[in-house]
Amino acid sequence: MDAAASLNRGGIGIVGGGQLAAMLAEAAQRRGVPLAVQTPNPHDPAVALASDVVQADVRDAAATRDLAQRCGAISFENEWLDLEALSPLAEAGVCFLPSLEALKPLICKRSQRELLQRLHLPCPRWFGLEQLATANAPSPPPAAAPTAAAAPTAADGEPQAASLPEGFAYPLMAKLASGGYDGRGTAVLRSDDDLQALLEQVNPPDWIVEEFVAFEQELALVAARDQAGEVVCLPLVQTHQHQQVCDWVLAPVEASHALQQRARNIAASLLTALDYVGVLSIELFYGPQGLLVNELAPRTHNSGHYSIEACSLSQFDLQLLTVGGAGAEPPALLVPGALMVNLLGFETLPADHPDADHLQRRAALQALPDLHLHWYGKQGSSIGRKLGHVTVLLHQQDHRLRRQEAMQRLEEIRRIWPLPNGAESEHGA
Ligand code: ADP
Repeated sequence: MDAAASLNRGGIGIVGGGQLAAMLAEAAQRRGVPLAVQTPNPHDPAVALASDVVQADVRDAAATRDLAQRCGAISFENEWLDLEALSPLAEAGVCFLPSLEALKPLICKRSQRELLQRLHLPCPRWFGLEQLATANAPSPPPAAAPTAAAAPTAADGEPQAASLPEGFAYPLMAKLASGGYDGRGTAVLRSDDDLQALLEQVNPPDWIVEEFVAFEQELALVAARDQAGEVVCLPLVQTHQHQQVCDWVLAPVEASHALQQRARNIAASLLTALDYVGVLSIELFYGPQGLLVNELAPRTHNSGHYSIEACSLSQFDLQLLTVGGAGAEPPALLVPGALMVNLLGFETLPADHPDADHLQRRAALQALPDLHLHWYGKQGSSIGRKLGHVTVLLHQQDHRLRRQEAMQRLEEIRRIWPLPNGAESEHGA
């Protein structure tokens, strides 16, 4: 069944009910496309905006089957999927877009790295933490584990420092292969002691370790591919993180034509190799090593939120068009540039606290010129939690002046909405 036909049968279903589903639901409302969501919490941001709701955990495959009966095509809000539980649904004819096959290598950081290597696309050098795990194990009897003879275990049975694979040196970045986000599930390793501590705390096969990249900038690209194989991209943007959480995004980034083309080629190679339909987001490092892919997200992305106001088609429009079976049209900037700033929780407040809505700060932000506020309506606040975002349209034509304009606007926003300075969102490991 193609997605155009499927949409005629009742729209799109999204597994998830957070801010990405909510902004997609807003775009769907504007286009008159029915959009149903599957989410356990009736207070989730997307629930009030969706045309239909299946109230169930996002990993409940029986509920997804129910969702599929109400919609033509199903997409996911995040990549933490139970593919085994979902594959019988695909076999029974449920239309997942992107397909489960295309999603398979994208649902964990290890398989993403393997995919990138297979396609000869640039990414940080890495190894699986389990490669070093034997160094931490007590010396087993040789008969039970003949390979243990090679493990660097002291004669008295005390574990020694695990030696790094050739070509790797500290600092290193360790990452939980699946389930991590916003820096939760990453740890910087600065020494053998850090490595040993990690080996003792975690299940090594669940972790990868990669070179610490000395990037100059972090960039991101949101791309989309339709069913005819056409690939379109939003402009390449710069992302800036605070304690590993996206803080602001500047669109477009000042980059040579060749660099922009290189990023687009990476996107097109990935989308085409996977026969992917829908939106794919790519986080990149740029520096002395050129472009390296950090992470792939098989969905819309924080780095593309600015497109709602600043582009002829937003990332959410692109998702609706491609998943809905229409052709993907190339999106264009409608203004010289845009700055998106996340409103990250800077204090911990329960949902019933009188300040949990931040009404005064929101009103002050909205009084700023050319600023568009998106408030997600989450219950309560915690340090580093994404509570909303603002997009400011920029008018300077010249790149350098536009960056200055953006940094001035950022300062105005910071005076109203401070950055979180707690360490809760750092190094989730
Ligand atoms: P998450 O899935 O938690 O967002 P990421 O892999 O995107 O994890 O890492 C979060 C941030 O940590 C990145 O945006 C970047 O600032 C930093 N980071 C991640 N990997 C590396 C690396 N290999 N070298 C240097 N910094 C890194």
